[in-house]
Amino acid sequence: MKRQVDRYGVMGYPVSHSRSPIIHRLFALQTGQNISYELLPVAPGELRSAIREFGEKGGKGLNITVPHKTAALDVVDQLSERATRAGAVNTLVFQDGEIFGDNTDGVGLLRDLTRNLGLHLASLRILILGAGGATRGILGPLLAAGPESVTIANRTVEKARVLAADFSHLGEVTACRFKDVPAADYGLVINATSAGLKGETPPWPRAAITPDTFCYDLSYGLTPTPFSRWARECGAREAVLGWGMLVEQAAESFHLWRGVRPDTRPVLRQLSISAS
Ligand code: NDP
Repeated sequence: MKRQVDRYGVMGYPVSHSRSPIIHRLFALQTGQNISYELLPVAPGELRSAIREFGEKGGKGLNITVPHKTAALDVVDQLSERATRAGAVNTLVFQDGEIFGDNTDGVGLLRDLTRNLGLHLASLRILILGAGGATRGILGPLLAAGPESVTIANRTVEKARVLAADFSHLGEVTACRFKDVPAADYGLVINATSAGLKGETPPWPRAAITPDTFCYDLSYGLTPTPFSRWARECGAREAVLGWGMLVEQAAESFHLWRGVRPDTRPVLRQLSISAS
């Protein structure tokens, strides 16, 4: 008798560039799970009906990506604490006629930083460049790791201030413009702007980088990103792209769906990407 194939996919607009299908196929192969995973282009305004229809047709789970991560909040029946805090959803689970929404981006970054890259975040000074959806998603898990302080610098400083206020109960968080970044020994500088995607190079604060600074770009590509090139030019200890976060957030989604946790290292290697 033929085994049932459980259906998963990623909804975004556009979504053709997504690496999620290849990552989840590698996870499924590794763990012996019988699943399919599709690219599902869904225009804004069609999100609610597309999600509902996917579930009604027996779909088991979805990833939600740009530009739908916030809009998907309104479609779920139940929301995890970390998705509530992040104000965004990147994973949906369809179970017993209900839709559960979660956000695995923050834990994905934390796993990459601490497990794959060996960073100890406790007592570190962290600088985050950018104050968009990704920053909101990573702030909770980063602060939970107990850094000395987190500074958020953003072109539109008001957005950084809102985030600092929203998360100040979890630790020491301040906000400023790029040009006002206080000189300090930052152990970790994270680029969470989307500037590189658009070929733009913001006035990132050179003084923030010392030979001890570890730089992490949430953006990723097959060649060095503008931020990683800039960080190396400034003499940073290391400049890493966000492939590990991508694979780790996918592994957390896979675990939510299938109850098994794939080994992410061979998948990172198979994508021809080094985790270190
Ligand atoms: P948003 O659109 O929500 O936010 C974009 C941010 O970039 C804002 O802070 C914006 O500043 C800033 N920005 C954009 N252009 C410029 C510029 N020219 N100069 C200065 N600042 C600029 O995007 P997200 O937060 O969702 O995503 C940010 C990045 O993180 C993207 O590259 C995305 O691909 C990546 N990402 C990677 C993940 C991974 O798994 N590796 C997961 C999630 C995101 P302002 O507020 O002033 O407009």
